[in-house]
Amino acid sequence: MAKILVYNNDTNRMETYYKGEDEAMPYNTGRTLKVKEFRGSSKSPTLWTSKRAMQAWNSQRYIWGGAIPVGFAFKRSWEGGHSGQSQHYAGVAFDVAQTFTNAQRNALRNSAKNSGVWSYVEPASLTPTWVHFDKRALSSACASGGFPQVKRGSVRYVHLSCPR
Ligand SMILES: [Zn+2]
Repeated sequence: MAKILVYNNDTNRMETYYKGEDEAMPYNTGRTLKVKEFRGSSKSPTLWTSKRAMQAWNSQRYIWGGAIPVGFAFKRSWEGGHSGQSQHYAGVAFDVAQTFTNAQRNALRNSAKNSGVWSYVEPASLTPTWVHFDKRALSSACASGGFPQVKRGSVRYVHLSCPR
């Protein structure tokens, strides 16, 4: 059972859900994104994302028209695999298609770029063996990228922290 916080971009509120690992993520349609897929190897008891990121997934999955194997979406900052800042820590990035062939990954990357639903799609030169796309909260506010800062008591999702 996971506690899942979802920032609802339409109401500007955080929502709380409790879901089993085999259940679909909040706002997911067609059970195409289960909690266990969203968390991947993360051990975090609490997960978070945004409604907009879930809707972007729904749209991409619909446009692609078939299964997209999900390696993970969510990571805590200490769970490794990424540098100090990552959209995965905000729960709005997806690393997918690890089990696809290169040709399938290229097709999915192009689909993700052309779909227009994502803020960012990583080029194949950076992630040749998976496809990364994300729906970040805001465009970059600093050279190293704009990241939401969520603190105890946060009800909004609009603060930015830039490294000094
Ligand atoms: Zn990634």
